[in-house]
Amino acid sequence: MKILVLNAGSSSCKYKLFNMDDHSVLCQGLVERIGDPTTGCLTHKIAPDTAKEEKISLEEPFKDHAVALNKVIELLTDAKKGVIKDTKEISVIGHRVLHGGYYQTQPALVDEACKKTIRDAFPLGPLHNPPNYTGIEVAEKLFPGVPNVAVFDTAFGMQMPEEAYTYALPKDLCKELQIRRYGFHGTSHTYLTHRGAAFMHKPLEEFNCITLHLGNGSSLGCVKNGKCIDTSMGLTPLEGVVMGTRCGSIDPAIVPYIMDQKGLSAKEVDTIMNKKSGLLGLCGQTDLRDMHRLADQENNADAILARKILIRSFKKQLGSFFFLLEGHVDCLIFSAGIGENDAKVRAGVVAGLESVGICLDKAKNETRSGDERDISTADSRVKVLVIPTNEELQIALTAQDVLAKSKKA
Ligand code: AMP
Repeated sequence: MKILVLNAGSSSCKYKLFNMDDHSVLCQGLVERIGDPTTGCLTHKIAPDTAKEEKISLEEPFKDHAVALNKVIELLTDAKKGVIKDTKEISVIGHRVLHGGYYQTQPALVDEACKKTIRDAFPLGPLHNPPNYTGIEVAEKLFPGVPNVAVFDTAFGMQMPEEAYTYALPKDLCKELQIRRYGFHGTSHTYLTHRGAAFMHKPLEEFNCITLHLGNGSSLGCVKNGKCIDTSMGLTPLEGVVMGTRCGSIDPAIVPYIMDQKGLSAKEVDTIMNKKSGLLGLCGQTDLRDMHRLADQENNADAILARKILIRSFKKQLGSFFFLLEGHVDCLIFSAGIGENDAKVRAGVVAGLESVGICLDKAKNETRSGDERDISTADSRVKVLVIPTNEELQIALTAQDVLAKSKKA
């Protein structure tokens, strides 16, 4: 079975075609600058990350998503370099959709009701949902007869109990404006939970873990019996831990204070919190490698402080989830750019936690690898895993599952 995964952004579109027999990637690519009348670029890789990898780069304008996807279809079905003969070989298309809104709790086969759900959630995901929606509409036209599945990034967070997702604001106001904790990076947390349970040889229904998706955007997930019971991001991806350019949780009263003192609009303060804060605001860098270099080689006080704040913020969130699980934690799972690569941050986050059964193996932590691995000591009660995330594969697996269930129904 072949499954295409699409992630349509406002001016870009990422795609990956999986052979689901062995989960291998037949090809993948990225179209950028869609909508720019002068230039656009498409990078297409056949058999990526294998000895047979072949790269095709094109530079030409792509007026809209339809023109871009048409080009992708040409490449997929090309007589010489194509990996399929006909788009009908694709069993289902899985679409990444940021927001499912207040009511959508599950991934769904795309039909009119599902499309309305995505449209209704435009105000909640104004930057992502409209282009995600366009991607679906274009795919419906260009891949006739191929079913589409919407995989919502909020679906993981929709598993949370009421006491986890409800903010202590006036009840009626929250209901009217659909304010609740939604959580994001859900596809990644879902993937990590499933892989973690498999790694630990535990049935999903008995598996407790804390997932640490630490990248440019970061969030932690708290999983009990295979289900999300809490997550650090909230109504928007701004809440939670300190990130590359986002401040994470702050005293909400800071917002009106800045607005009053500086005469700024809500939108301007929102931009400061989302784009100019976090590591960038603290030390002028967004990439942790640059922050480490400044801290370790130049003894830069801002970078040293930024690192302390970042690690402390991850540790505080980890601690609160550890308590929510009452210490019954099978493993911690580090993932994404920082979680998979940054041994210093991992060591900092779990430093001194031996008393609660979290014991890092220093040598294992410092060994670089792209594999799923255990970096805790043999006698660590709570295991510490590193699992490379794979959101596209999770979307493909989810689409496969939704398709199978729809055929049974
Ligand atoms: P992501 O958003 O998951 O792509 O993660 C991006 C972030 O991961 C970057 O901004 C870096 O801070 C961090 N990162 C990526 N590679 C490394 C690395 N080799 N060592 C340390 N941090 C890394």
